[in-house]
Order: sequence, then C-alpha cells, then structure tokens
Amino acid sequence: MTFRIPAPQILIDGQWRDADAGQTLPVEDPSSGETFAHIAAGTARDVDAAVAAARAALAGEWGAMPAFERGRVLARIGHAVLEQIDDLAHLEARDVGKPLKQARADVVALARYLEFYAGAADKIHGETIPFQAGYTVYTLREPHGVTGHIIPWNYPMQIIGRSVTAALVMGNAAVLKPAEQASLTSMAFARIATEAGLPAGALNVVTGLGAVVGAALAGHRDVNHVSFTGSTGVGVEIQKAAADNAVPVTLELGGKSPQIVFDDADLDKALPFLVNAGIQNAGQTCSAGSRILIQRGVHDRLLAKLVERYQTLTAGPALADHDLGPLISAKQKAMVSAYLELGRQEGLIVAEGRVSPDAPADGHYVPPTLFANVTPDHRLAQEEIFGPAVVVIPFDTEDEAVAIANGTAFGLVAGVWTADGGRQMRMAKRLHAGQVFLNNYGAAGGVELPFGGVGKSGHGREKGFEALYGFSTLKTVAAHHG
Ligand code: NAP
Ligand code: MG
Repeated sequence: MTFRIPAPQILIDGQWRDADAGQTLPVEDPSSGETFAHIAAGTARDVDAAVAAARAALAGEWGAMPAFERGRVLARIGHAVLEQIDDLAHLEARDVGKPLKQARADVVALARYLEFYAGAADKIHGETIPFQAGYTVYTLREPHGVTGHIIPWNYPMQIIGRSVTAALVMGNAAVLKPAEQASLTSMAFARIATEAGLPAGALNVVTGLGAVVGAALAGHRDVNHVSFTGSTGVGVEIQKAAADNAVPVTLELGGKSPQIVFDDADLDKALPFLVNAGIQNAGQTCSAGSRILIQRGVHDRLLAKLVERYQTLTAGPALADHDLGPLISAKQKAMVSAYLELGRQEGLIVAEGRVSPDAPADGHYVPPTLFANVTPDHRLAQEEIFGPAVVVIPFDTEDEAVAIANGTAFGLVAGVWTADGGRQMRMAKRLHAGQVFLNNYGAAGGVELPFGGVGKSGHGREKGFEALYGFSTLKTVAAHHG
C-alpha cells in the first residue's frame, strides 16, 4: 500500500509554505524506529502569520458564509475523508504506530464528526427573552473569532473531528498545532479540506515544537479561544498563558478511569470491554479504563479470565494489525517501562502478553501487563501510566467502590457493570467523571455524546451539541421600541 506523505510545510491562508526559519523535524515510525518523513518546524512568526490569516478569513468569504453553507463545506470534507480512508489510515498507522484497523476506525470517526457537525450547522439558535413592556430581547450565538487548537499524538484525527470541525461549523477560523510526533494526518486533513472548498484562512496548520509553536499560539494576543488536549501539566501552562489575554480555554486532559464490576455483572459481556479499554492504542488513551475494580464475590473468577486473555495479547507492528502496536516513542517506552519495573519488583504482575517476533528491535514495544491486588493509593493505581498497563483492585461494598473510584486527582470517564438498576442510577450520580457508562465502556466513541473531565482531567466539553456552545459566545440584544 502506498500513501502520500505530506511535504514538510505549513498551511497559511490556503497556501503551503516552508516554515519561517526553513527548519524541519524528523518524523519517526514507532513500529520500526525509522525516520520516514519530515515536518516543518514552525516558529512564533509562523503563528503570527497563521493568526493573521485566520483573522482575515473572518473578515472575508468565510466570515460571510451562511451557517448552512458552512455545513455543506463540512459535509463535502466528510465525504472526501471517507473516500481517502485507505490513505489516511495507513498514514496514521505509520505515524502513531496504531494497528491499521484502529486507524481506519479513527478515519471513520473523523468523518462522523464532519457529518454530525455539518448537520448541526443551522440548528444552533438564539432565543427571545420576555422582558419589560416596550422591549424586544433576543440572543445571538456568535463565533469566538480565531480559535487555537493544540492537540496530542494519540488520536489526531478524532481530536481534529471533535475540536477543529466543531469550531469551524460555528464560524470560527482555526489555527491547528498538531503534536510533534504525529502531525501527518493533520496536514493531510487540511489538504482534503482545502480541496473540498474550505475557504483560505479558515483553517491554518503550523507544525513544530510545543514549547515554540504551542506556546506562541496559547499566549497569542489575537487568539480568542484555545482548545487543548494533552497532559495535565501542559494544560495548566496553556490556561495560564491564555489567562494573560483573558481568553477562554477548553482543557481535555488525562485520566485514571475506573471500570467497576459488581458481583451481579454479566462477566462474559464485560470481559472484552475490560480488556480493550486498557489496551486500545497501546493504553495511550486519555479515557483508558486503567483501573479495574472488582467486587470480592467475583474477584478471583474474573481475574482468572483477565489473566487468560492478557496472556494471548500481542504487541506488534501497526501495519500487521496485532492486538496493539508500539508506544509512540522511546521516551514514552522508558516512562511506561519504569512503571512495569515497579510492579515487577513488588510482585504485582499477574499476567503479561507478548511482543510479536516480527516486531523490529528499534520499535517501542512493551508487553500488555496486568497488575493485581494493588492498593488504591499505590502509585500504579494513582498515576496515569499511558501504556498498556492496568491495575486490578478488589472491593467489598458499593460505598467502597465509589470511594476508590473517586479517589484520584482525575475524573474523565467511568464504567459500571451491574444488573441492579437502582445501583446503576446511584453510581451514575456518585461518580466524579464527565461520562459514566453503564454496562458498556466508551459507547463506541459516540460523536454525539458530550465529553470532557472534572478535576485534573480538565474542563469544558467537546463532542455533541455541547461543543458548539463552547465554540461560540452569546450576545444579548435588547431593543427598546416603546
Ligand atoms: P502533551 O505533552 O501535553 O502535548 C500535547 C500538545 O501540547 C502537543 O501538541 C505538544 O506539542 C503541545 N505542547 C507541549 N508543550 C507545550 C507548551 N509548553 N505550550 C504549548 N503547547 C505545548 O501531551 P502528550 O504527551 O502529547 O499526550 C499525552 C497526554 O494527553 C496524556 O496525559 C493524555 O491523557 C492526554 N490526552 C487527553 C485527552 C482528552 O481528551 N482528555 C485526549 C488525548 C490525550 P509537542 O508534541 O510538539 O510537544
Ligand atoms: Mg510519528
């Protein structure tokens, strides 16, 4: 399979060009450790140019386009994305190291966001407000203006879908800063969007380093909203930078999400979800179900099933479509390996998968690993590992399950497995999380479902209609006419 590798350039005002300083950065294939492409190393001056282009787009064709026409443009981009699914999926698999079938699923998700937001374009309305005699009062939903989007490497296409496309459909003009390790599908997406008729300047892409391009974008005086997805530490810095300009931010950060299994759960139904939520994208998923809480009555039986399943799991090259791929980088492998070593030294490992014999030695593979009998306050149960490493924690009562589940700094998502309807409702209310799944996990990624965190998992919501409120501002108009 051949796929087009984008040239190492940035997109400003509809034109691809070299970065201001003419520098590039190598792009690594995590499956092999080989350099297979380069990206432009953007500068703060490139960010200035991108923001100026976005501002000009708001004053031009893009800003004047009616909502339903913006929807049409998004729909055309959605069709084009699906037509190029093989190309995009191969590019993403190669760049991120994710199994090809997961990369294909990401392309489909991107297309679904485009379809969803295309249809929503003309369905977000203001209101009229009954007021004093002689007045007519109404509200207008308006774009923020220029939106900055700083995204991570783990799900570039899905995050473009839920962040950039939602901002565009509300009439904002966007500047996208992809992650240094995985920028290629952001560039491919921008090319597709331009070819599908997105006006120049509506979407600008500046690749490069977070500390250079990301920092310039987050603190830019002419950016009106910043959407950040990534680590909690960087997210806090982004919020501080935006605060200097009193600019609103959406932060989609990390997690340590619990999957809670009660004695009365359907274990056979739960098992594939419990496993997949831990290993998808090699565990490099913000909403990974990385803590499995099991009630004592089924603990040993379910743990045995998990162990059996983990022993069959294989990590291998992305294009060979194993259960999981490599980690994104040598640095990520070192960080995850330190956690695996900690668990090994303390005798907590109960199952390990394997690394496939066809995995190149310079790829960044780790075996999927299950830890058991972990105490809730252990580092392995508190810190986001961001690799295929999952802890199992036993519990006795519903209250104890809630206390353990809520007992981290994060609060992104939670899963509950129980046949008891009352318990389902109680748990859904008591869990600190932005999404709660009852007898499932992840709801197949549902683009319609608002998503985001509490606590150190962030604030603001993307996905669904809710994202459209976040990517717009409300103006109240009070007319006195006597
Ligand atoms: P990261 O280091 O925070 O990077 C995210 C983005 O921020 C990248 O584009 C990065 O650029 C940029 N960046 C880095 N330093 C910056 C700075 N000083 N100023 C402005 N931008 C900067 O996160 P990551 O390692 O890529 O991703 C892993 C983390 O993201 C995990 O914690 C995970 O849970 C979280 N995540 C959350 C969600 C969610 O929706 N909640 C989704 C995916 C990932 P460079 O790549 O060039 O450094
Ligand atoms: Mg890469």
